[in-house]
Amino acid sequence: MKVLKFGGTSVGTPESIKEVAKIVSGIEGSKIVVLSAMSQTTNMLHKITDFIGASNFDEAIATVDVLIDRYKKVVAELFETENTRNQASAFIEERFDFIKSYAHEGSVPVIEGVEKNIVAQGEILSTNLFTMHMDEINVASSLLSAFDFMRIDAAGEPDSAFITESLGEIIKENPETDLYVTQGYICLNDVGDIDNLKRGGSDYSASLIGAAIQAEEIQIWTDIDGMHNNDPRYVDGTFSLKEISFDEAAELAYFGAKILHPQSVIPAKEKNVPVLLKDTFNPESAGTIICNCEVPSGVRAIAAKDGITVIKIKSYRMLMAYGFLNNIFEIFEKYRTSIDMITTSEVAVSLTIDDNTYLEEITKELEGFGSVEVETEQTIVCLAGDFSQKEKGASASIFNSMTNIPIRMISYGGSNYNVSLVINTENKIEALRALNEGVFEVSVS
Ligand code: ADP
Ligand code: ASP
Ligand code: MG
Repeated sequence: MKVLKFGGTSVGTPESIKEVAKIVSGIEGSKIVVLSAMSQTTNMLHKITDFIGASNFDEAIATVDVLIDRYKKVVAELFETENTRNQASAFIEERFDFIKSYAHEGSVPVIEGVEKNIVAQGEILSTNLFTMHMDEINVASSLLSAFDFMRIDAAGEPDSAFITESLGEIIKENPETDLYVTQGYICLNDVGDIDNLKRGGSDYSASLIGAAIQAEEIQIWTDIDGMHNNDPRYVDGTFSLKEISFDEAAELAYFGAKILHPQSVIPAKEKNVPVLLKDTFNPESAGTIICNCEVPSGVRAIAAKDGITVIKIKSYRMLMAYGFLNNIFEIFEKYRTSIDMITTSEVAVSLTIDDNTYLEEITKELEGFGSVEVETEQTIVCLAGDFSQKEKGASASIFNSMTNIPIRMISYGGSNYNVSLVINTENKIEALRALNEGVFEVSVS
């Protein structure tokens, strides 16, 4: 069985939905198709919940109306028969009525579970419209609700055992079905409320499903021909990599390569399920295969993650005194805040976090151990590749490229697959471009 995930742009218009149907029909064997919401839908649903949260009901209704207009046009253009058009119109009306039921004075308050239910409507709409289209073109498919198998635990982590068991049962009960369609991104949490896998989470859904059913392959169909060697949003002339290892892909996804959700490589890697990145709008292009494969050494790709905060603790006593680092780490553990990067010197330790929810509390407690400096608006630039001993010259090319850009922290040697630099976010684009010029000349040869 294969898992095929299509992102927001891939299902963003009636034409692209028809294209997706063609791609799906052209792939042999049994499949689970995972769909995102149509592009911009999740953003608008978030806007709607923000307006409702601020009791700005007029704006909330106006935004719902913009969405309704868009979906009405989709229904008019996607479906051929009066019958399906009526069925689809009734469905979207029901979904938007549900959202509107929260958008007036005196309506049920939009607590977190309700907010997530509103945001979940994007994937519910896209999957229903898609299966209605499949019906119309006479391709049998079975719509699975992600709420029946996708679950996170109390810590917000996917409950892999539950996902594997539930999906296994569903598939066993339907031996004739060879095309399932389900929602990416959305799930239930440990208390049964509607939740989600965070923005861009449909990739994560696909990977979790692929790992749960031990799929033959996970295909992530998007609007670009695979993982590029640098961020195409900021750098010209980037190119698609034919093959990358799970480790490289995991580093790049975690450190900002938007093509993949930060955690999405891990389940596939754990079960050794290859992940193929493909372009919906250019299906002939090879894309990128992520696998347990041997890759050339040197820098292979660069990504950048914004929203980083650097915390520097200067010790009152000798830094490396027994237990000092442990005391510091315990504070982060207490506030469930993970550390991305760490560097030490004789008198100070600097570390980075990407979640400032408890920054004030953490800073206060750290002050018990030394003087604390906090810098926000930092960016981690991650260079992924094989930096094992045999590679020479990679680090020289990295630092030569950065001669005009101040570097705040450097991490080298934590693994063989990553060199990371912390810089001011305002220097990010310049750094990505400079590294692109300086690094790939050396490592491509
Ligand atoms: P989808 O809606 O299909 O999930 P996303 O917008 O989340 O698509 O991801 C695809 C986008 O990721 C591309 O259009 C591209 O701009 C961006 N991107 C950022 N870094 C990379 C990279 N290294 N390689 C390819 N795409 C990247
Ligand atoms: N629709 C969700 C989002 O926009 C999930 C996804 O597209 O992967 O974040
Ligand atoms: Mg995405």
